[in-house]
Amino acid sequence: MDWKGRRESSNVEDRRGMPGGMRAGGLGLGGLLLVLAISYFTGQDPAELLSGLDSGAPGGASQPVGPPATDESSRFMRVVLGDTEETWDAIFRQQGQQYDPPTLVIFSEATQSACGVGQSAMGPFYCPADRNVYLDLTFFDELDRRFGAPGDFAQAYVVAHEVGHHVQTLLGLSERMASARRGASQVESNALSVRQELQADCYSGVWGHYAARKNMIDTSDVEEGLRAAAAIGDDRLQKQTQGRVVPESFTHGSSAQRVEWFRRGLQAGRVDACNTFQ
Ligand SMILES: [Zn+2]
Repeated sequence: MDWKGRRESSNVEDRRGMPGGMRAGGLGLGGLLLVLAISYFTGQDPAELLSGLDSGAPGGASQPVGPPATDESSRFMRVVLGDTEETWDAIFRQQGQQYDPPTLVIFSEATQSACGVGQSAMGPFYCPADRNVYLDLTFFDELDRRFGAPGDFAQAYVVAHEVGHHVQTLLGLSERMASARRGASQVESNALSVRQELQADCYSGVWGHYAARKNMIDTSDVEEGLRAAAAIGDDRLQKQTQGRVVPESFTHGSSAQRVEWFRRGLQAGRVDACNTFQ
């Protein structure tokens, strides 16, 4: 990716090394992989999962925005987030709406969110209740080593996916989904979750479409993104963690579906190409 020298977002809260961070504790490597698999990728609604893990520890939710970091990986995140802001701002304005960007909270190990205590082992997540994206940068080592999806655009795709959930919240979809899932069976609820996740993949692709137009990414970056989408499909993760594939338990979609919807967004560059609920 050609990202250096581009605008860095100021909507980043750096909580690394802050008091109020809590140790995840007790998770071995196997446990880490399992939690990864059941939470961010193949798991339940992050809000449900997080509230289940909430230990009621004192919050860091209203921490002030820290000074700009100088390390390269967080600067990269700021640039990616800044570019999603420009893209979604333009798309919302075309539709006569206003884009209110999320805050990216960079944390280490654990932090408080309005959805409960976020832990790095969960992977990145979006909390609709405080409209923040939560990210521990060490997740990207996992993405590279365990899931075989290295590269800066693979990381950008993950952030853009979480921003995609924020877009869903702004468009009212997250709320409609939550109420639809309340009366639904587990299987129905999982199927709704897959559609919601695939739409976030597609929105990530929409962002990629505009990033390509600005020459921020090239074809090798796109391949990285597609590889990342395939690496975190439910079928592939289940095979890795359980040795078998149970389609009814999918919550994010198969590798093939994730690749397909990311690609659709990427090619079309339009929100209406992302109707996964049709
Ligand atoms: Zn998601």
